[in-house]
Amino acid sequence: MPLVRYRKVAILGYRSVGKTSLAHQFVEGEFLEGYDPTVENTYSKTVTLGKDEFHLHLVDTAGQVPVADEYSILPYSLIIGVHGYVLVYSVNSLRSFQIVKNLYQKLHEGHGKTRLSVLLVGNKADLSPEREVQAVEGKKLAESWGAMFMESSARDNQLTQDVFIKVIQEIARVENSYGRQ
Ligand code: GDP
Repeated sequence: MPLVRYRKVAILGYRSVGKTSLAHQFVEGEFLEGYDPTVENTYSKTVTLGKDEFHLHLVDTAGQVPVADEYSILPYSLIIGVHGYVLVYSVNSLRSFQIVKNLYQKLHEGHGKTRLSVLLVGNKADLSPEREVQAVEGKKLAESWGAMFMESSARDNQLTQDVFIKVIQEIARVENSYGRQ
């Protein structure tokens, strides 16, 4: 019998970067064309990776952390019991790139010394002609956090699957590095 592991993953980022679209594409296998501002949605899907099964519970946090300025704090529910984070910006919005920096800072403060499992995602890579953030900048930022990075598009099912597989792998990597200490 494969071991089923429960993983709670929060998707954070500025409004309109594609958080809901990524979660929806991952779970339902389709792209949402219209803009539908979410209050908060949760999605679940079981993913098999090698011999292991992961029951992935996604928290789409639209609206909870609208700007994440220096005064705002993240709700407790986004700190406690969350195994990993997908921090999303959109490659055609420099503002959203600034916002993920603030969000990471908040997460860092909220978690204290605990190592974070973070995947930084530059979404809307299909809108490359409107780019305001280069891939190399995303990669550099993720490296400065010791996190993983990828660009994605919620229009592309395979890339979207890769996002969530990557965050499961990142959670495992951080857990294993604790195990070795
Ligand atoms: P959220 O507020 O971060 O949850 O963003 P949404 O998922 O609601 O997406 C905001 C808008 O961007 C919607 O109109 C989506 O259809 C669109 N969108 C989301 N992801 C992508 C993407 O990867 N590429 C393109 N071209 N549009 C996207």
